[in-house]
Amino acid sequence: MPSLQSVISCLSDYDPTALPVDQANRIIGEVVEPVRGVEQVPIRSALDRVLAEDITSPIDVPAHDNSAMDGYAFASSALQAANAGQVELEVAGTSFAGGGASSPPGAGQAVRIMTGAVMPDGCDTVVPQEFVDVLADGSRIRFAADTVRAGDNRRLRGEDLARGQSALPAGRIIQPADLGLLASLGFAEVRVRRRLRVAFFSTGDELRSIGEPLDAGCVYDSNRYTLHGMLRRLNVDLIDMGVVRDDPAALEAAFRTACETADAVITSGGVSVGEADYTKQIMASLGDVTFWKIAMRPGRPMAFGRIASGGRDALLFGLPGNPVAVMVTFYHFVRAALHRQMGANVPPLPLMRVRSAQAIRKKPGRTEYQRGILARADGGEWEVRITGQQGSGVLRSMSEANCFIVLAHEQDAVRAGDMVDVMLFDGLV
Ligand code: AMP
Ligand code: MG
Repeated sequence: MPSLQSVISCLSDYDPTALPVDQANRIIGEVVEPVRGVEQVPIRSALDRVLAEDITSPIDVPAHDNSAMDGYAFASSALQAANAGQVELEVAGTSFAGGGASSPPGAGQAVRIMTGAVMPDGCDTVVPQEFVDVLADGSRIRFAADTVRAGDNRRLRGEDLARGQSALPAGRIIQPADLGLLASLGFAEVRVRRRLRVAFFSTGDELRSIGEPLDAGCVYDSNRYTLHGMLRRLNVDLIDMGVVRDDPAALEAAFRTACETADAVITSGGVSVGEADYTKQIMASLGDVTFWKIAMRPGRPMAFGRIASGGRDALLFGLPGNPVAVMVTFYHFVRAALHRQMGANVPPLPLMRVRSAQAIRKKPGRTEYQRGILARADGGEWEVRITGQQGSGVLRSMSEANCFIVLAHEQDAVRAGDMVDVMLFDGLV
């Protein structure tokens, strides 16, 4: 695994005091490696887990050509032989779903067929029953030749998945549809990566936990709760280590315990530049850790690296203390890094371009993640506005928002009516 220092030394334009978001993510991506452990689980338990193997279809799905409608199966040559635009056929049998193939009809014959029933040999087309006149107590049918074309209403063998075809790639986070797909292929179990273990704690002498009296100058620790929520959504095992006082012995013990029990450690607070506390010192003393000022808003200071203790090591993310900065840095750095560490291959979330209903102040030279509300204007067009106060301590701005307005590094101020990029919380949070 490449060391942080070796990755950084390859960059020509590296400036840790004004690091662009993209560059920070590139560095993180090169340092983080997937965990190796794999376990075999019943498919229901595989939901939201990371698939550890490529799944190839062992069978054709469906296994036979079959009917997509209730109707009558026949050979399409009968359409060319139509008399005055009408096709008239003798009904030679019935094919039910779940039954075997019925015997092939002869010339001038059709087979009554149900949805999902196997197409009889020699038949390539199904006329739906609602287009058919049934004659002579069901022994004959007649329909207009132009109600169907050759091949209509027939599902082909293997059209969903052909035997040997790739069904799901390793690295996929398993979705509900994938569970159904695995079941349709007859898999009872699949191999998934082991679950990631993530330890987290808050630092800061002003923090109080819920239930404690809120002394003058103190705030309740909210970061551990947003982190809990964000990590739960990533389906990792959580180790919540509470609030750790700004005391060297307590901090060192916390970092060591976290490192020895988890694959990744996330802290909040105490990484601001010039901050007179011990968090940064202890982080640096335990491993290969670097301190960045990222060219972004909110969330400038961040520590990243790898710490070691007791023969174990763990990724370290030292997030800023401000509640909105914690969430923004989590979503834009930690989330992708943890996906990578859990072996998941997750495509970047789409940015959509929509109209900004208002002017937004912005200076070039940093990426901004304004909290936005995307809604339909009266005219029916989607437009976005900011949630009001955008201070990095204003957690309400995250709670009210349904998207980030992503203002790129080089972008200048936005005028009302300009198009801007938004990233929907759906799929992110
Ligand atoms: P820091 O990065 O430690 O300087 O903290 C920046 C700001 O975030 C300060 O106002 C802190 O009080 C606040 N803060 C830090 N940690 C937390 C937390 N866990 N919950 C709520 N606010 C916090
Ligand atoms: Mg602090």
